Amino acid sequence: MESKQERKQAKILGCPVDLLDFDGALNLTYKNVEEKAGMQIVTINPEMTEIARKNAEFHNILNNADLVIPDGVGIKIALKIKGINRQNIPGIEFSKKLIEYCAQNGYSIALLGAKEEILQKAKENLIKEFENLNICYARNGYFTESEEDKIKSEMQEANPCVAFFALGAPKQEILISKFKKDMPSTVFIGVGGSFDVWSGVVQRAPELYQKLGLEWLYRTIKEPKRFKRIFPALPMFLIRVIIESVFHKKG
Ligand code: UDP
Repeated sequence: MESKQERKQAKILGCPVDLLDFDGALNLTYKNVEEKAGMQIVTINPEMTEIARKNAEFHNILNNADLVIPDGVGIKIALKIKGINRQNIPGIEFSKKLIEYCAQNGYSIALLGAKEEILQKAKENLIKEFENLNICYARNGYFTESEEDKIKSEMQEANPCVAFFALGAPKQEILISKFKKDMPSTVFIGVGGSFDVWSGVVQRAPELYQKLGLEWLYRTIKEPKRFKRIFPALPMFLIRVIIESVFHKKG
């Protein structure tokens, strides 16, 4: 794996973002899967930087992640404010490519998260799409803290090459950081609401919204309760980034 010193990173509000493009991030991940080197991948968005501001454990996990990819237009704009032009890497597309790679090369995967019927539907759809896909472990995301050790043992037993955690942030990143200590050769990635989309229950925004970087707007219109969560955070996020880039030019 690339050593920490070789990594090209930017800092957004104290959170790292790796400056790789889509293919660069995928190639690094493929290499880690092949070498059984294990890693934690975070797909970062503005909401996560806000969580990190208030939650030191989560902030520390971001700092120790092996790959932090910019997911969403908010991070793209923040990088631009710092004078860095970077492609947005939607975590859901990145994960799909990773699944395709696993299916084609005989690497097993685990799915952890979402409601049971969503998980089953997502699993079914993925197997339909990638016929050689080996899903060696799948479990819904509704469990208590006391069940975590049992789930970890079950997953360890299944020994997936890549594990997708769809529990939302920061829950998925915190759980990954606990599991990876005992599963050092597995590549872990937090994928938020991706299983909902793969199940077919939730639609991704039409391509035009995706191209304009307005997927968040579409999801907010479809699911208005997201408005309260996302909207006040975004302008505040950009204001903080502007202040940060004025006062810490090097970022
Ligand atoms: N979820 C879960 N367990 C929990 C809380 C949430 O499995 O205890 C799942 C939820 O069902 C959904 C996903 O986590 O599938 C989070 O989706 P959300 O859209 O909130 O995540 P985002 O993509 O915005 O990070």
